[in-house]
Amino acid sequence: MEFSSKLLEKAVNEMSQLPGIGKRTALRLVLHLLKQPETQAINLANALSQLRTEVNFCKSCFNVSDTEVCEICANPRRQPEIICVVEDIRDVMAIENTSSFKGLYHVLGGKISPMDGIGPTDLNIQPLVEKVKSGTVKELIFALGSTMEGDTTNFYIYKQIQGYNIETSTIARGISVGNELEYTDEITLGRSIINRIPFEASLKS
Ligand SMILES: [Zn+2]
Repeated sequence: MEFSSKLLEKAVNEMSQLPGIGKRTALRLVLHLLKQPETQAINLANALSQLRTEVNFCKSCFNVSDTEVCEICANPRRQPEIICVVEDIRDVMAIENTSSFKGLYHVLGGKISPMDGIGPTDLNIQPLVEKVKSGTVKELIFALGSTMEGDTTNFYIYKQIQGYNIETSTIARGISVGNELEYTDEITLGRSIINRIPFEASLKS
């Protein structure tokens, strides 16, 4: 791509570093910003720079936070003895959107994936094990994606905390609300049968 301006080229190159943004899309976005009032681009640049330099990760659950301890961990109405283990911050947001969970979270920052060179020490697993060892946790809910890496990670953590007297559960892998059984893939359907729950429990949700 030939550019008539070094500044334009630089902005496009930076923008195209983002995932899913190729050179053409980057050029479209940069030209869009050029057409907008100057403040829009400056606000965007400031928000990104502030995000990168000032954002914290909660020292307890590793969620993104403006403060040392995030709002969820600091909320006295949450139940600190129940911890939901998730892969990343998007999962916290997704579960929070359901308003169905009143415990706390623990963000691992990824899943164990030997193929990608990600081992247990690359993730926030040790602080979770320490939390369990401290005796404040009664239940861990594994809420990682239903993939081989997710299952491996669940099992690794499960092994680490064996011997401590806590309950462990995994989110039900079920059939989407409104879905007919015949359209559900067989792995999901198979797991739903294996992980069936007492009917009375299904009435509460
Ligand atoms: Zn937190």
